Amino acid sequence: MKDSQYSILIVDDEPANVRLLSCALADSYVVKEALSGAEALEIIDSGEHPVMVLLDVMMPEIDGFEVCRRLKDNDETKDIMVIFVTAMGDSAAEELGLNLGAVDYITKPIRLPIVRARVRNHMNARRKTDILEAMSYIDGLTHVHNRRRFDQALISEWQRGLRSSSPLALVMIDFDHFKALNDHYGHGTGDICLQQGASALTRTLQRPSDMLARYGGEEFVALLPGTDRDGAAAIAEAMRAAVAALKFEHKYSQTDSYVTISLGVAAAIPSAQMRPAELLEMADQALNQAKSQGRNQVCLAPPIDTITGTAEAARGSEPWVPPLPPPELPNPQLVPTSIWQPTHADQQQALQAPFHIIFSNLERLDISKLNEDQQRYIDELRASALSLKALIDEIFEPSTESVPAPTPPAPEPAPAPAPTLTYTPCAKERFDHHELMHRVGEDSEIAAEVIAQFLKDAPVRIAQLQQFLEQADFEQVRFKAHSLKGLAGNISARDLLRLAETLENAGSNESTAAAVTTELAREYEQLALALQHWMTVHAPT
Ligand code: GH3
Ligand code: MG
Ligand code: MG
Repeated sequence: MKDSQYSILIVDDEPANVRLLSCALADSYVVKEALSGAEALEIIDSGEHPVMVLLDVMMPEIDGFEVCRRLKDNDETKDIMVIFVTAMGDSAAEELGLNLGAVDYITKPIRLPIVRARVRNHMNARRKTDILEAMSYIDGLTHVHNRRRFDQALISEWQRGLRSSSPLALVMIDFDHFKALNDHYGHGTGDICLQQGASALTRTLQRPSDMLARYGGEEFVALLPGTDRDGAAAIAEAMRAAVAALKFEHKYSQTDSYVTISLGVAAAIPSAQMRPAELLEMADQALNQAKSQGRNQVCLAPPIDTITGTAEAARGSEPWVPPLPPPELPNPQLVPTSIWQPTHADQQQALQAPFHIIFSNLERLDISKLNEDQQRYIDELRASALSLKALIDEIFEPSTESVPAPTPPAPEPAPAPAPTLTYTPCAKERFDHHELMHRVGEDSEIAAEVIAQFLKDAPVRIAQLQQFLEQADFEQVRFKAHSLKGLAGNISARDLLRLAETLENAGSNESTAAAVTTELAREYEQLALALQHWMTVHAPT
């Protein structure tokens, strides 16, 4: 059967080659054809991206390597799998092709059954990755989107709203007296209530772009693009009514004899003067108001002044004070630095945030279901998370007390000679996972030592240390950040390889195990990026 979701673009300047491959694959995939590099890029630019490109190397004008380079350089096309199919059989060319990011390298003359098998294997791996990626954005209990997905969607919808000047609304939703429900009916009943509640809330959403996510615990959030304050208020009221209509018994609620929810609504036309976190904070404030006014109701945040991006005074007599924006990940791509500069505390919080997620994910994982090897792998992840967290703590809170393992020893209190940095760059071929974990342990210690010293005695020794860093070693510190990024990349790759194994061996726990591992990889990546950003910001000039 043809899988229309998984299309392949075949690129070769020799029409006979294109036809041959096309015949071999057209049974199973949607196949497109191009007779030059330029035509391939044009096809990719103009329509649905293929999942895979079979790419000849030697072509006039734009050769296959260049096509691959351009695809990998572009965020929108970098995930397209490239397989070189070429007469260039020497190992230098193969190495170059693979280093450019190709998933495979097949030399001509080709044997069609082999090509078919390789394509199928890569497609299967991609399918699994796609499933996992989707799973890592879903809340395990209620099957609505999770917080991670919401955080991403909020930013992208905010940016879309900025471009199109269309409104964006948020509805924060919290179950009333939910602790009492758990206490009297049991946690299992509480879980069922959240599941039924989430379904009821989802049913009230009207547009494909509307999104419901579990924000945490018994709190949900709806993201409503293109919806103004009045429209969002109507949806919030429908949500309130939908949950009330479930008539989920709750004799211990002080509000009703059934489960009820309170809701806070905020809407704005995104502007450069405002940050999405502020809209969230406003919806949260409105939710608090709904709670304090008696629960089981909808409250609206004041309308936003679209020119200044600040909230107008509330319509009642009380002036409404806009809340301070909470810190956000210092990601320069998402936050225009001319408008908002992360403070030291913001950065610390952003760098530490992934650990809360990592540790809570690790707790969620039922380790008893995993085999020994997998358990060891999880232990290693935990250990390296701990040592990375220690590194962050050291960076921001250099202390003279000795810190528990696996943090590095506290730097000497008296002015000490500059620490000697030892770092052996590892050969790519020997990039073994276990070794990598140890290596990162080492790197973290060295980096922590240097940076802790750099910050700790700042007033007295900053000049000395700056000199030290300028001379030779800051580059090495920066290199540590790069190697963390490498670690992140490798954890992701490693996870994908382990995936099949985990799925097979983890029994009933398979979806959790897989989702957790993928999430972990992502958190590492975030962390490494944040750390690298920090390094860049603090580089001596
Ligand atoms: P309020 O009306 O002010 O919101 O009171 P509340 O009791 O709902 O709020 P509180 O924050 O005191 O308690 C929330 C409770 O929700 C406590 C927590 O155990 C429970 N909860 C959070 N997540 C889950 C979950 O996944 N399942 C179950 N069963 N309960 C959960
Ligand atoms: Mg509650
Ligand atoms: Mg709550």
